[in-house]
Amino acid sequence: MTTRTIPSSTELSALADAALARCGVDLDALGGGASIISPINGQALTTLTWDDASEVGAALDRAEDAFRVWRRVPAPERGALVKRFAALLGTHQKDLATLVSLEAGKITSEARGEVQEMIDICDFAVGLSRQLYGRTMPSERPGHRLMETWHPLGVVGVISAFNFPVAVWSWNTAIALVCGDTLVWKPSELTPLSALACQSILAQALAEHGAPESVSQVVIGGAEVGQALVDHPSVALLSATGSTPMGRRVGPRVAQRLGRSLLELGGNNAAIVAPSADLDLAVRGIVFAAAGTAGQRCTTLRRVIAHSSVIDDLTARLADAYGRLPIGDPLAQGTLVGPLIRQRAHDAMVTAIDQARAEGGELIVGGERLLQDAAPEAFYVRPAIVRLPAQTEVVLRETFAPLLWVLPYDHIDEAIALNNAVPQGLSSSIFTADQREAELFASSEGSDCGIVNVNIGTSGAEIGGAFGGEKDTGGGRESGSDAWKAYMRRATNTINFSGELPLAQGVDFSV
Ligand code: NAD
Repeated sequence: MTTRTIPSSTELSALADAALARCGVDLDALGGGASIISPINGQALTTLTWDDASEVGAALDRAEDAFRVWRRVPAPERGALVKRFAALLGTHQKDLATLVSLEAGKITSEARGEVQEMIDICDFAVGLSRQLYGRTMPSERPGHRLMETWHPLGVVGVISAFNFPVAVWSWNTAIALVCGDTLVWKPSELTPLSALACQSILAQALAEHGAPESVSQVVIGGAEVGQALVDHPSVALLSATGSTPMGRRVGPRVAQRLGRSLLELGGNNAAIVAPSADLDLAVRGIVFAAAGTAGQRCTTLRRVIAHSSVIDDLTARLADAYGRLPIGDPLAQGTLVGPLIRQRAHDAMVTAIDQARAEGGELIVGGERLLQDAAPEAFYVRPAIVRLPAQTEVVLRETFAPLLWVLPYDHIDEAIALNNAVPQGLSSSIFTADQREAELFASSEGSDCGIVNVNIGTSGAEIGGAFGGEKDTGGGRESGSDAWKAYMRRATNTINFSGELPLAQGVDFSV
């Protein structure tokens, strides 16, 4: 089933204006200049003036001034600000979700889910604001106490990708705020309106709370604006989410100035389907993880590694489900697959399918462009499945589109080796009823990824766990667990209350 109609530019722009205005964004201040394109119809929603790279320095100066104030506010009180922000996000959940759909093309339920994730991470951060624990350790010296204390780090620069235009910023922001940091955010140039709405909502919470307004700022622009953040010595932590090529440019430059970076980069995520797997469950998990968000999640399932005893049955069931996916206007009720972000994504998908065919692959379903008459400037595709005899070259790279490779295996060790034999290391899963296989996959000899799931797909992580991946995914961890430690600096304190001055390791330095 495919939605036949696509809203007009006038309708989409009116939706954007109304949502922005309700979030408190001054529409007259948006200015002219860059067109902000909606992937829903490929046409401009509005125009916007971009910031100049030179304005980043001024924003960082303000952020440093605000830091000197904000770091002195007790952490639980900083948590109270985040609590208020969460409440305002709840009030504006629909507006923000609309903007996410308009700019990133997400279906309504996923866009609302993304905003829910913002609220969830705020809840987590509020609790965390009373739990920024340091350890105490036994000192080897009598009359001494040894302990760790955690302190606000400074200014956090956030660079984010188009496909999670608001949630990734909130993972950084909610945690950084309770940690006592200030932030300057450069959102994707493809999704600046969602960012302006977030900024406006947070500004309201900051004003109500009496916090300095420059605790959080946004700068709008492309890679050169991001680069200015990357290179600036005032940025204590640079948190960058995006493609691996972006990370390769950004990481070394931050390291060059001995700054701290947190990189959340591309994935190439696999699911192993074992002979004992519940295939109904596996099909549901795979279809959501592979075709959901039109294949444009970092955790999107890109490879199914299926046992040769189930691969035919599984592929047939997946092809059937793919044939029934409702594709079209992401704002329309019932749509499950919205548009690709832009032509470049479509071109990459076509190129990858062609390469796979040349490497021995068989296109099972999908790949065709849809709705060209209704929206000639937008890029809707049927998610595709390609069966390959082996993990060929095309499979090793992340093609950011709904393109699923299906590969065979015969022994679990072979399946795990295939799972790990790609440069990326973000998410992975196994569908099995065999506990030994499940435990092996989750063990140190199993998946080498940052996310290792059993009997669910690769996408849809909860905020309670640390999120991120290894190898070309960059090694960063954001969101829950102890990811907050990246946003603080640690001091080890030795307190001497003995009246003597014994030296560690028995060193004698008497004069
Ligand atoms: P992208 O790399 O094109 O852009 C991401 C951001 O980096 C944008 O804000 C962009 O302006 C900025 N940027 C690009 N080059 C830069 C440079 N040299 N210096 C500073 N900033 C620069 O990515 P995208 O197309 O927006 O997003 C899709 C990619 O992001 C995919 O590879 C996806 O897997 C990845 N992603 C990863 C995660 C994760 O948590 N691991 C989450 C979301 C997306």
